[in-house]
Amino acid sequence: MPQTILDRFARPLRSLRVSVTDRCNLRCQYCMPEPEYAWLPRETLLTLEETGTIVEAFAALGVDRVRITGGEPLLRRNLPVLIRQIAAMPAITDLALTTNGVLLAEQALALRQAGLHRITVSLDTLHRSRFEALTRFDHHAAVLAGIDAAGLAGFDALKIDTVVIRGVNDDELVGLIEYGRSVGAEVRFIEYMDVGGATRWTADAVVSQDEMLEVIAAHYGAVTPVGGRGSAPADRFALPDGTTFGIIASTTQPFCADCDRSRLTADGVWLMCLYARAGTDLRRPLRAGATEPDLVHLIRTVWSQRADRGAEERLALGRREPLIPLAALKKDAHLEMHTRGG
Ligand code: SAM
Repeated sequence: MPQTILDRFARPLRSLRVSVTDRCNLRCQYCMPEPEYAWLPRETLLTLEETGTIVEAFAALGVDRVRITGGEPLLRRNLPVLIRQIAAMPAITDLALTTNGVLLAEQALALRQAGLHRITVSLDTLHRSRFEALTRFDHHAAVLAGIDAAGLAGFDALKIDTVVIRGVNDDELVGLIEYGRSVGAEVRFIEYMDVGGATRWTADAVVSQDEMLEVIAAHYGAVTPVGGRGSAPADRFALPDGTTFGIIASTTQPFCADCDRSRLTADGVWLMCLYARAGTDLRRPLRAGATEPDLVHLIRTVWSQRADRGAEERLALGRREPLIPLAALKKDAHLEMHTRGG
């Protein structure tokens, strides 16, 4: 029976985001806008087997939800091997993947067959030219094909994540809800966050949850909150016809008090918060011969000291700028959003 461990604010350790690569095949201007990046050294990347061993240790401590992310996780070779291993862990009741969808059409079936439960595809625009301006690649059609393929492969709880940026795609809220409805996916709008990597972030570019709701209600009529969010990041809402959508208001209405998430980078650094400056290296002890009980002990000790509430601390700042200056980001890949996963 898994244990439950609590941090210093009595938040349980329940959800783990596992980044399997820091590489990406897009260059989204809100995440990886720079021309050059320092990548994690190849020899430091966890093997799929090492990643599985670490996930086992988390599962023994009460983690029951795992999300595979990156970088772009579908760039990781043999990913279904890891999916199969995690899907077979009895403690894991929810196994999801976040992808930009570019390679999804060719991989959806294999992911399904490996036992993946759910897929979230990031899609910020319905316009091909806008997609290219935002990501620097002409892959819009591939992403749409990936979403279709996921449906055909049997993924029926599809989600679409959209980072809403003023002057970039804030005129597409209704269009994206309609598109989501047409493909059987729930859309979740994400407030633009000042995380590492978002070197072009400005407060003016953030479209708040309140503003989004106003625009959506002006088009559809009254929007009703759907309760029961629990520790999930999105507030969910229903349109008058029952169609639901979500908003992840991490910038203007942070939800640190309920945060049961932590993150594992592709090289085995465990981060307590998306805004954390540093993490705990799990790769070194593992490669030095730590057993699963050793890892369990280490994880329990670190989590019980956790007091992170990064998004709330950012909100409390009077004046906000990008979290990490570019020069500091260039020196430490672990500070980047694409290294720690979304
Ligand atoms: N490559 C995958 C993808 O595109 O979904 C997984 C990694 S990506 C870092 C995970 C999520 O983080 C994406 O939905 C992305 O839109 C989101 N993200 C990245 N930078 C962000 C920012 N500055 N503000 C809000 N969300 C961001």
